[in-house]
Amino acid sequence: MAKLSGSARINDALSKYDIHTFKDVIFHLPNRYLDLRYSEEFNVNTNEKVVLFLKATSAPVIIRTPKVTIIRFSAVSKNNIPYSIVAYNQRYILNVVNVGTEITVFGTINLKKNEISLIKLFPRVLRSDEQIVPLYSLPSDVGNHEFIKIVQKGLKLENVQSSVPEAIRRKNDLVSLNNALMYVHHPLSFDQVFNGLKALKYEEGLAYFLKLLLIKRTNSVLINTKKTIIDLKAANEFVRKLPFTLTKDQLAAIREIGYDMNKETLMYRLLQGDVGSGKTVVAFVALYINYLRNAQGVLLAPTESLAKQHYESLLSFFKAFNLRIELLIGALKESEKQRIKEDIQQGKVDIVVGTHALFSEDVTYPKLELVIIDEQHKFGVNQRETLLNKGEKADLLLLSATPIPQTLASVIYSDMDLSTIESFPHSGRKVTTEVDKFPIKTIVKRIEETLNAGRQVYIIAPKITYGEKTNVMSLHETYTKYFDDKVALLHGQMTSEEKEESLNTFKNGSTPILIATSVVEVGIDVKTAGLMIIYEPQSFGLSSLHQLRGRIGRDGKMATLLLVSDEEDNTKLTEFAKEDNGFKIAELDLTLRGPGELIGEKQSGMPSFLYLNVIKDLDLIQKIKVDALDIINNPDEPDYQTYLNDVKKTIG
Ligand code: ADP
Ligand code: MG
Repeated sequence: MAKLSGSARINDALSKYDIHTFKDVIFHLPNRYLDLRYSEEFNVNTNEKVVLFLKATSAPVIIRTPKVTIIRFSAVSKNNIPYSIVAYNQRYILNVVNVGTEITVFGTINLKKNEISLIKLFPRVLRSDEQIVPLYSLPSDVGNHEFIKIVQKGLKLENVQSSVPEAIRRKNDLVSLNNALMYVHHPLSFDQVFNGLKALKYEEGLAYFLKLLLIKRTNSVLINTKKTIIDLKAANEFVRKLPFTLTKDQLAAIREIGYDMNKETLMYRLLQGDVGSGKTVVAFVALYINYLRNAQGVLLAPTESLAKQHYESLLSFFKAFNLRIELLIGALKESEKQRIKEDIQQGKVDIVVGTHALFSEDVTYPKLELVIIDEQHKFGVNQRETLLNKGEKADLLLLSATPIPQTLASVIYSDMDLSTIESFPHSGRKVTTEVDKFPIKTIVKRIEETLNAGRQVYIIAPKITYGEKTNVMSLHETYTKYFDDKVALLHGQMTSEEKEESLNTFKNGSTPILIATSVVEVGIDVKTAGLMIIYEPQSFGLSSLHQLRGRIGRDGKMATLLLVSDEEDNTKLTEFAKEDNGFKIAELDLTLRGPGELIGEKQSGMPSFLYLNVIKDLDLIQKIKVDALDIINNPDEPDYQTYLNDVKKTIG
C-alpha cells in the first residue's frame, strides 16, 4: 500500500483522521457535493443559488469600508439578460475580470434586482467534470482542493478489487470498485454518484448481512442437549410473589423466552421495549427459570451503577427465594472479588450481576446457561458473537431500550429472534410534555412546586461546556443561585465516586435537583422524580428525548417534561409532545429527519454503516439480504466459495 507522498503538514493532519495511505484516501468519501451545474436561467426563485455563464459588461468597481471590501460590476447572459454582481472580500476579482471577460458565477440571486451576490467566480466556462465538486470532511489544516489532488493521485495509483462475487455484481448492475470510487470522487453526473455509491453499499451490506446469517446458522447448530426442560408453569411461583401483575406483553415475552430456553438449540433473542416498559422483571423471570433448571445465570449492565441497581432489585425480588446472588464489579476489593469468583467456580452462585468487563475476568462458570445483556446497543455484532462463544452453551437474551419499528428491526437484527413490549405497565403513567421558551422565573416556580410535593427534578443540558450556549456548568451556577445546596451535578467527566455521590444524594432527596448531561439517559431509576427540564432539546434525537422522559413519573403519578426551546420552528418537538409510544416516536424520528442527515451519523441502537443508510436504503438492503441468502445456501458455488470464507474469517 502506497504511503502518502504529500507534505509533512498534510500527512500529519490526515493521520489524525486515520488516513495514512492512498488507499485510506480513496475510501474517504465526500460527505456532500457542491453542485455547479449551470442553472436554467428563467427557472430560479428569489434567494436561490445559481450558476450562470455571463460576459462582464463593466470593469469591477471597488468600495472599501472599514470592515469589508465590496466589489461591483455588471454582466450579461447569452440571451442578453443583464445582471449586477456584488462580491464581498474577494479581491481576486479585480485581477481576473475586465469588460468582455467570460465568466462563470456561482452565487445567490435576487430576482427583483437581478443581482447576484457572489460566492465564487471562475474566469471561464466550466468543464463538465468541474461541475460537481466533492466536499470532504477534513482536518481544518487540509483544504478541500488539496485533498481532491491527493484523491486524484490515489485513484491513479491504487487498484482495488471488489470482493462481491461476479454473478451478484452482474445481476445487480454493480460497477467495478475502481469505477465506483472514480464516480464518487470525480463524478460527471449525479447518476454516477448514485451508481458508485450503490456498488460501495453493496460491498458493505453483503458482508454484513452474510455475517448475520452465518451467526444465525452457527447458533442454530449450537445444541445443548443437556438442557433441563422446565415446566413453565413452575415460573408462576415467582410471578405470583411479584408486587404487581405482569402486563400482557410481558407475559408474552416470558412465554417466548421460556419456549426458547426449553429448546435444544440456544436462545438468541432480543427483547425490545421502551424505558420503563418492564423488561427487567421479564429478565428476572428468565433468571428464575434458569435457576429452576439448576444452572447459573449472568446479567450484564453497561455501567457499574446500573449493575448495582439490578443487584439491589434482584435481592428484593428474590427475597422469598433461596438463591445466591452476587455483584461482581471493578470497584470491589480484590479479596472480595476473589472470594466471589471462587464461589462462582464452585457453582455456589446462582446469579451474577456485573458490567461487560465481567467476561474479561478470569472466571469459569461450571454451569452457565443464561446470559442477559442490558442496553445491548453498546455491543456490536462481533462482540455479541464473542460473548456467545464465552458462554459456550448459554442461552442469550439481549435487552434494548431503543425501540425500533418492527419492520426495520427484523432487517437489521435478522440474526436474532425478537420479542417486543409495547405497552407500559401502569396505565396511570402520564407524563405531559410542554414546549416553550420558559423564562427562568417560570421554571423556578415549577421546581418549587415539585420539591414541595416531595419529588425530584432533573435539569438536562446537551453539553458539559460548549461555547456560550447552555451547558451543565452554567446551569449549575444559575440554579445554585435559586436553590443553594439542593443542587447536584452529574456528567461524564466526573470520577465514578463523584457520580456515585451525586446520584445518592439525589435519590435520597438531600439534593433533589440534578443538573446533568444525557448520561442519565441510561437506566437511572429514581421513582419519585416528577419534573424534567431539557435545555436545547433540538440537539437531541426524538428517541433520546423519549429515553430521557422515561426517567420521570416512574411512581405512576403525573410528571412533567419542559422542553426549553428558543427556536422559531418547534414542529418536531410539538409532534413529540403529543406522542408517548416509543415505537411511534422512533418512526417519527426517522420520518422527520431530512435526507442526508443520517449519512455517517450513528443512530443509537442501530449498526453504524459507512455507506448504507438503514432507513433510506431499505429496498437495497432487502435485495442484499436475498443475495446473502443465496450465497449461504450455495456454499459450493465456485464463485461464492472464496467470498464466504473471507466473511467467515471476520467473525470473532
Ligand atoms: P425497563 O427495564 O424496561 O426500562 P423496568 O423493568 O425498570 O423497565 O420497569 C420500570 C418500573 O416498572 C420498575 O420499577 C418495575 O418494577 C415496574 N414494573 C415492571 N413491570 C410492572 C408491572 N407489570 N406493573 C407495575 N409495575 C411494573
Ligand atoms: Mg432497564
